[in-house]
Amino acid sequence: MSIRTQLAIWYSAVFALALMLFGVGVYAIVSLTLIQQVDATLEESASVIASRSAGGFQDGERVIRLPELDIFRAVFVEAIGIDGQILASSMISFTQHLDPEVIKTMRDKPVAEQHPIFTIAHHAKAPPIRVYTYPLVGQKSGQLFGYLQVATSLEHVNRATRGLLITLLSVGAIGLIVSSVAGAALARRAMLPVERITGAAMEIYRTQDLDRRVDVRANDEVGRLGLAFNEMLDRLGDLFRSQQRFVADVSHEMRTPLTVIRGNVDLLRAMGCADRESLDAISSEADRMTRLVSDLLLLSQADAGMLPMHCKPVDLAPLVTAVARSGNIVADGRVSVQAFVTGELVVHGDADRIKQVLLNLVENAIKHTPDGGAVRLAGTSTDAGMVLLSVSDTGVGIPEEDLPHVFERFYRVDKSRSRAHGGAGLGLAIAKSIIEAHGGDIEVQSAVGAGTTFNVWLPSYQPNLV
Ligand code: ADP
Repeated sequence: MSIRTQLAIWYSAVFALALMLFGVGVYAIVSLTLIQQVDATLEESASVIASRSAGGFQDGERVIRLPELDIFRAVFVEAIGIDGQILASSMISFTQHLDPEVIKTMRDKPVAEQHPIFTIAHHAKAPPIRVYTYPLVGQKSGQLFGYLQVATSLEHVNRATRGLLITLLSVGAIGLIVSSVAGAALARRAMLPVERITGAAMEIYRTQDLDRRVDVRANDEVGRLGLAFNEMLDRLGDLFRSQQRFVADVSHEMRTPLTVIRGNVDLLRAMGCADRESLDAISSEADRMTRLVSDLLLLSQADAGMLPMHCKPVDLAPLVTAVARSGNIVADGRVSVQAFVTGELVVHGDADRIKQVLLNLVENAIKHTPDGGAVRLAGTSTDAGMVLLSVSDTGVGIPEEDLPHVFERFYRVDKSRSRAHGGAGLGLAIAKSIIEAHGGDIEVQSAVGAGTTFNVWLPSYQPNLV
């Protein structure tokens, strides 16, 4: 069932319930008020009659003398003796008790417990009557002389309540029809913005245009849904574009070695013999491609959270010293690489991967530092339970506008310079992925002409936590 139909049904159901409660309330109040009016009239009549009546003994029998009953036209009056016989009646040919049952019940009680009472009595083929039974007790003697029953027909009350019931039912039925139509219209109106968003989403799907956006008109729930949808499209668009850029970069990077290999193979074929230089070129380009493909594989594994890592507690102090030693071999005396270690440098991680990151940072530092410069590799433990590894150089530095991008895939600060050195711009992206997979962080600070510092934070090894 659609939400629109559900809304319409709920709206009509709630309205119908409210209408029903209102109807029942009005009906109950009106009926009660009418009966109270009848009761008040009966009570008043009974008290007038009782005050004008007299009770006494005649020939040893209890007798009741009632006033002129003609004046109480609207009410029927009966005087009943304590034995239950009718002693006097305002109705000429009425020999029936107005309500014999109540007299029977009252007679069974002691005089002190006999209180006036209202009842409803039904007589064949006549509308029900409201009866007020009033025990007649001698004021001085305190003796029970009999009962006074004053009654009136409930026909007009019944007629009034029946009329009210018909009116309420008709108004209720009309109200229900109106509320159903209004409910359906309201539900349609409420769902309109959602349908607009659905329409826009379908349009984007049909045209495959990720630049289209949903028109957000109000800051309500649906408006916020539209905003969330637009934000999701922004994100999807970014991802899609970076995916496209990534594929373009990979193709571009692959094309160069493939072209070199192809050119050399053509040359070899033309010469008809294996020339050493061409074979070396083919081999080095094939190596470059192999490196590129394994770097891409590593990055995609890291993206999928499936980077193979063999984590265990590792002391980074000997690792830092070993990387500095390798750095000195790579630098070959051109720049000096020095290691400084202070404090406990134990982390829970994959020693080979961390070494790979440090080597990459040190090689980059050597590569971008002019002859006679210095590269400093430092490891310290911080108060915040982290190990800080930093690689600083006195090299060319990175321009401010490039700093936010250096960790992006295929990003090179100086494209021509890096390509000459064979870098594809994946080293720092890989370093970031590896450090983040260890729960750490990496950042760069640099000033052109003064040097660059890469800081790597890794959580210290906490024996109880692992
Ligand atoms: P590549 O493999 O091309 O070196 P990286 O991801 O390792 O790629 O580095 C990205 C870019 O950041 C490099 O092209 C280089 O220009 C710049 N870079 C990295 N380290 C340094 C450094 N220590 N000093 C100056 N520039 C650096």
